[in-house]
Amino acid sequence: MARRRQLYEGKAKILFEGPEPGTLVQYFKDDATAFNAQKKGTITGKGVLNNRISEFLMTKLAEINVPTHFIRRLNMREQLIKEVEIIPIEVVVRNIAAGSIAQRLGIPEGTRLPRSIVEYYYKNDSLNDPMVAEEHITAFGWATPPDMDDIVHLTLRINDFLTGLFLGVGITLVDFKLEFGRLYENDEMRVVLADEISPDNCRLWDAKTNEKMDKDRFRRDLGKIEEAYQEVARRLGILPEAGSRDMKGPETMQ
Ligand code: UDP
Repeated sequence: MARRRQLYEGKAKILFEGPEPGTLVQYFKDDATAFNAQKKGTITGKGVLNNRISEFLMTKLAEINVPTHFIRRLNMREQLIKEVEIIPIEVVVRNIAAGSIAQRLGIPEGTRLPRSIVEYYYKNDSLNDPMVAEEHITAFGWATPPDMDDIVHLTLRINDFLTGLFLGVGITLVDFKLEFGRLYENDEMRVVLADEISPDNCRLWDAKTNEKMDKDRFRRDLGKIEEAYQEVARRLGILPEAGSRDMKGPETMQ
């Protein structure tokens, strides 16, 4: 098969033209970046694991009627997705203080928040993804008030669902980042979940020991990064059958 046309290369993923109009192929790389790409590295097998973990979580979310861009996984590193118009906002949900909220507001990491908190960041690398309020989002037209209603409603449902799902496998969902897109289908527009959900954009702690099982191991040089991502997949019951050998392989599984 001829190589597909590349449309966009991000820090952790590449988007290719899909086989049919309105579809794209999302390729998961092993590259890792942190602190707005000031820190760069490679986590062997990360792309394979994130592809599988994101497939699993998006499929589970679809089962509770959360609309997503995900269609199906194509192979070890690629998934077929619906082409959407990305809303340029990163939606962060926090259940427990960690990372930037702990620093900014001086809350000790690990403090359970009085309730789940939703924050918005404007997706703009040259501005370092600044935090914004709903006022900025609607005033500058990045999303409309009805889009924001859908986003908040979906985000809170996703948080409740994923919190329970992870707790069931002994993992605390501390915080995570979502991205949404507009999907145009049959003359209608719907806001759908896009991007990925994986240990790259969630904070996941072992429920018993609070050990970090996510990208903070890379950000903070804690080591055993691959092992942590694999352990998340193992607990979710989706580690590829051949085990870690499969993690490094090329796109052989069709
Ligand atoms: N996050 C992300 N991409 C970003 C910024 C944050 O996926 O560009 C995720 C991050 O992995 C964490 C949550 O959003 O699960 C909250 O991140 P925080 O604001 O604490 O930022 P950090 O200090 O991790 O950059």
